[in-house]
Amino acid sequence: MSNFIPYGRQDINQADIDAVIDVLTSDYITQGPAIERFEELVANYCGSRYAVAVSSATAALHISCLALGLSEGDVIWTSPNTFVASANCGLYCGASVDFVDIDPTLYNLSVQQLENKLSAAAQLGKLPKVIIPVHFAGQSCQMEIISSLARQYDIKILEDASHAIGARYCDKAVGSCQYSDLTVFSFHPVKIITSGEGGMVLTNNTDLFEKLTRLRTHGITRNPRLMREISEGPWYYQQLELGYNYRMTDIQAALGASQMDRLETFVDRRRFLARRYNQLLSHLPIQLPLQHKDCESSWHLYVIRLRLPELSKTHRQIFEELRRANIGVNLHYIPVHTQPYYTDLGFQRGDFPEAEKYYSEAISIPLHYGLTLEQQDYIVDTLKAIVR
Ligand SMILES: *Cc1c(COP(=O)(O)O)cnc(C)c1O
Repeated sequence: MSNFIPYGRQDINQADIDAVIDVLTSDYITQGPAIERFEELVANYCGSRYAVAVSSATAALHISCLALGLSEGDVIWTSPNTFVASANCGLYCGASVDFVDIDPTLYNLSVQQLENKLSAAAQLGKLPKVIIPVHFAGQSCQMEIISSLARQYDIKILEDASHAIGARYCDKAVGSCQYSDLTVFSFHPVKIITSGEGGMVLTNNTDLFEKLTRLRTHGITRNPRLMREISEGPWYYQQLELGYNYRMTDIQAALGASQMDRLETFVDRRRFLARRYNQLLSHLPIQLPLQHKDCESSWHLYVIRLRLPELSKTHRQIFEELRRANIGVNLHYIPVHTQPYYTDLGFQRGDFPEAEKYYSEAISIPLHYGLTLEQQDYIVDTLKAIVR
């Protein structure tokens, strides 16, 4: 088998292509009806009142922080085991960022550490304004505990569910916003469904929804009810705050809406392949991913953790041997606080030891809708031969 097997990739079918062509030959390729259609599909699927489509999950995180009133002097907390965007969104608003170390078995931010850190911060009067739990690999964080801590300390919750559309927590869809103020999805091609580039914010709160809609397009409203002065005519709009052009195009939204039809199929296949990895990779000197009893992951990633003391090779050797075998392994994630930009802000290696230990042992092996059983068998056989 000589073809490169990527760790993740999109699956585009004829219906997706037709949906995009329909938009290209219609009157609106942006700011048209496909946006609302896509938003409605996602909100209905997740059981949230509102959804706002934007150009990326990064943009979604940024305007979410702004809508929650984050500004200079405020603090956000997130997981160090995430993509840099989960933390950068706080910096965009002039706030500062801190992290809560991860649970060593679930790889999400540890609710025990969160509780301890909140109680210490409360005594110092330095509570965060927003906590951003990241549903790593598609498995929800322990949102019941996180939301009750948030209520206790009067903190806002923004779920970074970039990995987790199609996942469930306590029998509810991730995105229901039952345990949070806002939830963000990403539609980058490696994620569960794609719109090329794209993101979405979900909420049940009308004020936040209206704010997000404005922030996506320059802070402008055309709704007379939201204007500060009386409308001067049918041409009239008002800029109420400093927003951005973070709009999604209708071309992207049509692709996203078409992919929503296949969300369950995508996630079912990922769950099947994950169970199959679990069976085929048992009894090796590696830690397989664990599921919390309240969670049904969407399986964006399948991460194995090497038990290095039982192995005669290094993490890097094993990673490189897999790559040489044309297996597109990857590493999610380099702990954000160890990035040079963050060490310049004062973070140091050693600050979040569980995330750092995890990073020294983790490898994401390929998992996506189009992965064939033959490819999966090849990955399993190659991995077995390498760690034997
Ligand atoms: C992919 C990802 C993002 C950013 O998504 P974009 O749509 O590429 O901006 C943010 N957070 C997490 C956890 C991600 O995996």
